Amino acid sequence: MEHPAIQRRTSRQVHVGPVAIGGGAPVSVQSMTNTPTRDVEATVAQIGRLAGAGADIVRVAVPTQADTAALGAILARSPVPIVADVHFHFERALEAVAAGVHKIRLNPGNIADRDRVRRVIDACGERGIPIRIGVNEGSIVERRDGAKRAAEEAAPLVDLMMAKLESYLAIFDACGFGDLVLAAKSPDALTCIEATRRMARRWDYPLHLGVTHAGDLETGIIRSSAALGALLADGIGETIRISLAADPVEEVRAARELLAALRLRAREEAEIIACPTCGRIQIDLLPLVAAIRRALRGRGAGLKVAVMGCVVNGPGEAADAHVAVCGGKGSGVLYVDGRRVRTVAEADIVAAVVAEVERYGRRAEAQG
Ligand code: SF4
Repeated sequence: MEHPAIQRRTSRQVHVGPVAIGGGAPVSVQSMTNTPTRDVEATVAQIGRLAGAGADIVRVAVPTQADTAALGAILARSPVPIVADVHFHFERALEAVAAGVHKIRLNPGNIADRDRVRRVIDACGERGIPIRIGVNEGSIVERRDGAKRAAEEAAPLVDLMMAKLESYLAIFDACGFGDLVLAAKSPDALTCIEATRRMARRWDYPLHLGVTHAGDLETGIIRSSAALGALLADGIGETIRISLAADPVEEVRAARELLAALRLRAREEAEIIACPTCGRIQIDLLPLVAAIRRALRGRGAGLKVAVMGCVVNGPGEAADAHVAVCGGKGSGVLYVDGRRVRTVAEADIVAAVVAEVERYGRRAEAQG
């Protein structure tokens, strides 16, 4: 049975270059480069890989003037809008705005001086550039300065984060600037959920979801999916980043997979279903799944492809897959729409699956 689509919260809409955030726009995927921004070639190459993997928006750090000076060349070659991540120096924000960046991210814990914030607001207002206010645990100066309260519960910290956001927002309100995206991040999934739910109740600005310093590939994806999944399933979140201590391309893949799992974005390639394997397995399944996933990158959008370990239960368990392969002894049995079509040698399975997926796609296209 088809589940009803997630009812998304109503938020304002902002535009980051050509990408809309909020106001009913698809949940956008963000990532961040980890190259020195002043290294234009390396940064443009990485932005290209991120965009190729499905990033809608890419953020770059601009810690120095050399970095903001590189923005013009990067912007000219970037296939996606660029956000300048500004930490301590408001001048970097002004330089990034002058370079034509599509959005600015400010951390209230780092640039707190009202006059400086106003200058950034004025510059962004003149050019129609939105600002993301990203509060996180590091923004809570009082907490950082005080004794570390190891046993502190999530709720008081969330109170501090909300108070920080509220006082920062007062500066923007006073300037009549509402082209904003808000975020409240923590390395703790429950803190992220609580803080973001409170933002969603309090403001109608689009919300950026993320777990900060989430961890490596395994921990980071699980922690981020726990927090972002809970929020997105409740209709909260207009743009997301899954932060990982890994190649940022993995962030994009994970974010897209999460959105596809919740049917918030369509997959741009086949959905892979694989059995968990058991004592009935007749084939070396794990490398086969990885090889099929690699071979189908960017192909087979809208199709389910099942890779199953045996012909005993595999065909039944893969019944709703468009294309399935079930392992036999040194062979793979191929199914299309649940019907057995042929058996191929183990070495030919990947090519055979790709061929069936492409044939399926052509047939679907011809049928309109
Ligand atoms: S498909 Fe076969 S090998 Fe895979 S889990 Fe099911 S019974 Fe086990």
